[in-house]
Amino acid sequence: MISFEAARSLVIEHAHPLPIATVALEEAAGRFLAEEIKAPFDMPRFDNSAVDGFCVRLADVEKASNETPVALRLAGTIRAGEAGGRGPGAGEAVKIMTGAPVPQGTEAAVMREFCEESSGTVTVHRSAQAGENIRRAGGEYRQGQTVLSAGTRCSPPVLGQLVSLGMTGVAVHARPRVAIISTGDELVAPGGELGEAGVYDGNSVALAAACHALGVRERSVRHVSDKLEAVIEVLRQAVSEADVVITVGGVSVGDYDFVRDALAAVGAHTHFTRVAMKPGKPNVFATAPAQDASGKTRLLFGLPGNPVSALVSFHHFVRPALLLLMGAREVSPLLVSARMGTPLRKRAGRLEFVRATLAYEEGGVIAYPTGGQDSHMLGGLCAAQCLVHFPAEAVKLDKDEPVTVELLSW
Ligand code: AMP
Ligand code: MG
Repeated sequence: MISFEAARSLVIEHAHPLPIATVALEEAAGRFLAEEIKAPFDMPRFDNSAVDGFCVRLADVEKASNETPVALRLAGTIRAGEAGGRGPGAGEAVKIMTGAPVPQGTEAAVMREFCEESSGTVTVHRSAQAGENIRRAGGEYRQGQTVLSAGTRCSPPVLGQLVSLGMTGVAVHARPRVAIISTGDELVAPGGELGEAGVYDGNSVALAAACHALGVRERSVRHVSDKLEAVIEVLRQAVSEADVVITVGGVSVGDYDFVRDALAAVGAHTHFTRVAMKPGKPNVFATAPAQDASGKTRLLFGLPGNPVSALVSFHHFVRPALLLLMGAREVSPLLVSARMGTPLRKRAGRLEFVRATLAYEEGGVIAYPTGGQDSHMLGGLCAAQCLVHFPAEAVKLDKDEPVTVELLSW
């Protein structure tokens, strides 16, 4: 049995980014940049107004206030998108819209809310600081400066940023093809006839959805019965067509748990089979050489069948692997500090991931374990917002004890 940290490191060590292709920005959503993006021009490109208001010279409005407003001559109007407007001369103001280029000679823009306009005169009720309400050219990025680094996920703001740089396409990494295989004679397809001892195959659907949420689009889902030959056959097929193979169930020590033997039979190299964690002690990670020209090693995960174990194991092992294949550089979980809302006990030896909800109370975050912490009880995971890390060697967590909490997002 290896530690959770060692297991995770082994997975990360073997997950390398997939090939790069340039795609249209609409196709890039949710994928990861394969190139560093530099500013092709200063950003903003030109000095522009941050407000709807009036361009002024500082000396003209130095004494302006509600009690002593200053009257200036309205010398023109500049709309957004309009270049080459004339700036204010002494005793003048130029009306300007948000985002419009600030004309020469402008020392500040005063918000419209502090001005009154009537028949060619602007009465200003407020003084101004040098540069106030002017967004300077290059104020965010200078031409040539790095705007986005490789490995950044193309989130909505990132896509907006790429467009603002003049781009219509971008180099991203390929998305992994994933094969999901559920094992178990007891499993029944969603909505099927259960019989006396049947169990619905929820894991296939849950794992496929978890893959989809990470941006995986090419998935196959198969079910296989608990027969060694059948598992070997399905695994062989999956390895030939997918970058990542996820089996679920059949990795423990039961008489009909054949996944480990089947992995060996298809020539996979197994890196671990048991991890000191709960849920998810029986847990397999293996790699197999590519069976096509890509030269890319296949990653194989043998997740335990209990639904909570399967999904928590997916979160800890499969998720970082899929993200790294897609070109992510940073796959550390989002950890925050909290205090326990209720005390907990356990045996020493395994790192436990306690499903919990979070509440903000009296200036701090409190973690409340959800009911039903057993690995077959999906309800606790349905309700959970986070996993509390109950350290391997700890045997108790007191009420109010500080804990590390890992935020969940599926
Ligand atoms: P196993 O890991 O095959 O020993 O299965 C452990 C438990 O998880 C058993 O109670 C199985 O019935 C259940 N289980 C296995 N696979 C699935 C699945 N795909 N969906 C729901 N439950 C499952
Ligand atoms: Mg089974």
